[in-house]
Amino acid sequence: MNRKKRLKTVPPAETAGGLTAVANALRHAMGRAGWLRGPAALARTNQLDGFDCPGCAWPESRNRSHAEFCENGAKAVADEASKATAGPGFFARHSIEELRQQDGRWLNAQGRLTHPMVLREGDSHYTGISWDDAFDLLAAQLKLLSTPDEAVFYTSGRTSNEAAFLYQLLARRLGTNNLPDCSNLCHESSGRALAQVIGSGKGTVTLEDFEHADAIFIAGQNPGSNHPRMLAPLERASRRGAHIVSINPLDETGLRRFRNPQRLSGYIGKGTLLADLHLPVRVNGDVALFQAIAKAVFELDKASAVIDRDFIESHAVGFEAYRDHIAGQTWGMLTRISGVDIDMIRAAAEILAKSKRVIFCWAMGLTQHRNAVANIQEIVNLLLLGGHFGRPGSGACPVRGHSNVQGDRTMGIWEKPTGEFLAALQKEFRFEPPARHGFDTVDSIHAMRTGKVKVFMAMGGNYVAASPDSAVTQRALSRCRLSVQVSTKLNRSHLYTGRTALILPALGRSDRDMRGDEAQFVTVENSMGVVRGSKGVLKPVSDTMRSEVKIVCEIGRRLFGETDPVAWQALANDYGLIREHIGRTIPGFEGCNEKLRDDGEFLLPHPVRDECRFPTPAGKAVFTVHQPDEIELEEGQLLLTSLRSHDQFNTTIYSDNDRYRGVSGGRQVIFVHAADLAEQGLADGMLVDVTSHFRGQARTIEGFRLVAFDIPRGCAAGYYPELNPLVPLEHVARGSNTPAYKSVVISLKPAAR
Ligand code: SF4
Repeated sequence: MNRKKRLKTVPPAETAGGLTAVANALRHAMGRAGWLRGPAALARTNQLDGFDCPGCAWPESRNRSHAEFCENGAKAVADEASKATAGPGFFARHSIEELRQQDGRWLNAQGRLTHPMVLREGDSHYTGISWDDAFDLLAAQLKLLSTPDEAVFYTSGRTSNEAAFLYQLLARRLGTNNLPDCSNLCHESSGRALAQVIGSGKGTVTLEDFEHADAIFIAGQNPGSNHPRMLAPLERASRRGAHIVSINPLDETGLRRFRNPQRLSGYIGKGTLLADLHLPVRVNGDVALFQAIAKAVFELDKASAVIDRDFIESHAVGFEAYRDHIAGQTWGMLTRISGVDIDMIRAAAEILAKSKRVIFCWAMGLTQHRNAVANIQEIVNLLLLGGHFGRPGSGACPVRGHSNVQGDRTMGIWEKPTGEFLAALQKEFRFEPPARHGFDTVDSIHAMRTGKVKVFMAMGGNYVAASPDSAVTQRALSRCRLSVQVSTKLNRSHLYTGRTALILPALGRSDRDMRGDEAQFVTVENSMGVVRGSKGVLKPVSDTMRSEVKIVCEIGRRLFGETDPVAWQALANDYGLIREHIGRTIPGFEGCNEKLRDDGEFLLPHPVRDECRFPTPAGKAVFTVHQPDEIELEEGQLLLTSLRSHDQFNTTIYSDNDRYRGVSGGRQVIFVHAADLAEQGLADGMLVDVTSHFRGQARTIEGFRLVAFDIPRGCAAGYYPELNPLVPLEHVARGSNTPAYKSVVISLKPAAR
């Protein structure tokens, strides 16, 4: 099948949501999960007596509607609730080589993994293995290590708090902090940046704040496809007259107009205007743009005071150095690097300066650049100018992409744990956890590459597809003695493995998790620090799958025995006991079982949001000074960013369509400005090979279709993860080590074949 031939493009959609979104949600739900399971699952999605959507980390309001999910949430739920299964028969029919020829969409569509499987060294096919033998094999390999640091324990953002807490405990009980996670690949830059300048790595707003904001700036984020329920509070904000400013290289449909399918008016008319100002920043031009906005704010402040000097005096340090730095930046340099017209910059500055309550939201469009930490700290600088912390309707809002990625970090999934956290573990479990820092995701790949890691285990996720420099990552993994994937669905990480590989099939969020007659529930934390219970409602498609909690406990029991200070067996049988440990170890979780029983959810404390207290070494928020990066492009080169399509969740591909951008039937596309195409003698629809350039190295992917698109000159875009082979492992954000997926220097040439 030649997918490239089927690719079609039409002009991007004018409006997001509406009837098409509803129809698409229902088509996916019924098509994948069936007429009984689909509606049963959706009726309990995001409800307090149901389960948390396994999609993004956008929060629910306390006043939940009956349909508390979006089109993409429906896709994620239906995908997990699928009745299709990929069991031993499937693996007997398909060799690893054959499966490698299939794309991610096909692999995912094969359905739920049901049985533990092993790929033994030299074998061409996975074969079945009993749970007991699989656990014994893994435990034996872990016991063989000459140091615990030869093991790596990766976590994806789907993992519940309970499973994550036990998983980090298992790694530390073994003696390592090698706990990389998907956060290393997405919002690590946000956490690092915020912790340095406001004293906490988490965002400072709640959903309620969106009802009070006078202006909402949204930078490097496409909520229409990646956090669709965010469009409803934006719609309400727009209707009550708040400004919405979009900052992004592409003018995404989801921030232009929205037809809210939860309201009758969402099915007629043109929908509600969302962003009243769009700043088409060049790829990686954000630091310059934020400084340009600040420069314009300082100019406005000369005419009439708009900077909150009382707030700055009481709560911040470094203002003078920042003010002087901005004064020294020239308009010519700032507009050249940002690519944004000075009138638009002044319009944004006026909105910022005249709004009493301002929220700044962002996502991976800001966090995956070499200067990502500076991007976020420049946002904090702008918020500090107006005193937008510790006041309702204001604050910093990093919007996380996977449902429990924030909770996993709260539970201690971090390669650089704090001394307080380790001391609390030691007190609770009476063992000495390791203090030396472990590997993050990128450093794990380096370590596997050089043979320092012998066992790699992943709790969910698709490590191979999600990581940069795909060929390097695949080769690095092949050097491990054993790789283990705890998974719900088949993906590329099951096909590029260690010399021996295990697949351990796990229950999903929507699956009922029974211990005897008692249904267990888990907890998750959303992007705004609300912790809620999540209880699966569907009968699992096979009784051979195990919960992530049970899997971790079985490994712990085999490694450390029945007399271990961690009562692995008891914890596997009663998740309430795990939460009791969490309550005594993690600040904010004290009495969590009772809080969940009484209210179903609770808000974690946040010193900045709740008390306008900044727990930095200075005891105040910190203005920072950065010089914008200027990436030099040679003739014919473009700066490439990556995007997700509308029918995709992280590395999971539901279809080859991207409705809002007008693309269907294929994902091997590169969006480029028509004038750049003409200048290079290329044309819309042409097939090209794409080469990235980094420190004299070249990486090429072949056979991508050009699409003329409204994107700033000198820039290009395409889909993640298809572009990952172009991203060098060493091309990372300074200060967070997050791969700089979103600013890769490329050149294009007509396809060789
Ligand atoms: S906005 Fe995110 S969490 Fe909510 S239903 Fe949609 S995908 Fe799920």
